[in-house]
Amino acid sequence: MQETYLEVNIDKIRNNIIKIKNLNHRSKFCAVVKANAYGLGSDIVGREIEDLVDYFAVARLSEGILLRRAGIKKPILILGYVGLDDISKCFENDIDISVYDLGLAKEIDKLGYKLKAHLVLDTGHGRIGFRADQIENIRQLKTLSNIKIISAFSHFSTADEEDNSFTEKQEEIFDYIIEQIKNDFDLEFVHLANSAGTIRQKIFKDMYRIGICLYGLYPSEVVRDNTEIKLEKTFKLYSFVHFIKNIDKGTPISYGRTFVSSKPMKVATVAIGYADGYCRAFSNMGKVYINGYGCKVLGRVCMDQMMVDVTGLDVKIGDRVEIYKEIDKDANLIGTISYELMTNISMRVKRIYIKEGMVIARRDYLGEIYES
Ligand SMILES: *Cc1c(COP(=O)(O)O)cnc(C)c1O
Repeated sequence: MQETYLEVNIDKIRNNIIKIKNLNHRSKFCAVVKANAYGLGSDIVGREIEDLVDYFAVARLSEGILLRRAGIKKPILILGYVGLDDISKCFENDIDISVYDLGLAKEIDKLGYKLKAHLVLDTGHGRIGFRADQIENIRQLKTLSNIKIISAFSHFSTADEEDNSFTEKQEEIFDYIIEQIKNDFDLEFVHLANSAGTIRQKIFKDMYRIGICLYGLYPSEVVRDNTEIKLEKTFKLYSFVHFIKNIDKGTPISYGRTFVSSKPMKVATVAIGYADGYCRAFSNMGKVYINGYGCKVLGRVCMDQMMVDVTGLDVKIGDRVEIYKEIDKDANLIGTISYELMTNISMRVKRIYIKEGMVIARRDYLGEIYES
């Protein structure tokens, strides 16, 4: 197919979930599908894995509503902020909120909607939540009449790093706070670990929250090397060659003439650019694969196209180009992580979903906007 598209393999996502669940069947499995399931498409992915999971986590109310519109019935938790104006929609859509600030919680409570909430504890990640020296603040939440605190959770900051000690400390602080407040609230369950804390440190609590590993990537190389779980990458990003030329020595390529050939070369132009999510930082750095050959990016990545070196290779117009074949290496090359490369894949890139060898769905976000 001559398109730039993202192919998502549902069977592989399901297999990754099953492998992780085999570590622990007692605890609940929370699928983190925020940011459109890290770019893959949260409504379709969510629908296709709902039977295997107990909970969904998202970052925004709109992401939660999208899951409900897709027919998802399992509980949904928003991991962060919801504006007061949107609280009624949490009630209407049966979406759990996070409570991380006493003042905000009181404001939400005053609105009068019966909501289920998860208490956020800051055990060292330093983003949101109540800290260990704020037990009295937490206890004041008992006075809320509409918000029901059903759970408490925290988040690791270094579970993907070599040194385990801070993760252990965070778990100790978590256990301490829970011990202090457990008689004040009817906590049905508590949750702590992300992908790294789950598959490496094997911290499960009553529920564990899995994001990146659903999609078949490891949070870091350290985690990959310190777990027996063998994940399979679940997506492939493809583009295609739409122009080929032979150039002489001394030919500049792309904006700024940052690449000038030092010998005669064969150059392919590929229909992907930074507007599709292939970062401009890959200029003169990135590597893509055509017919199995690794091809270097020449000059700057443009908004919609880029040029790659196919000198001496059997490459012709129409050939498929695989981007992010080694996504962790690619991310490392430009000083970021696979999470960011995935979530950068833009709306312009079509999505195709494969299950049991068949295409079960296609998604063209911009096409849907044009049609409506
Ligand atoms: C994003 C997020 C996760 C998932 O992290 P992964 O490393 O992708 O597993 C879990 N919990 C919280 C609070 C998050 O924000």
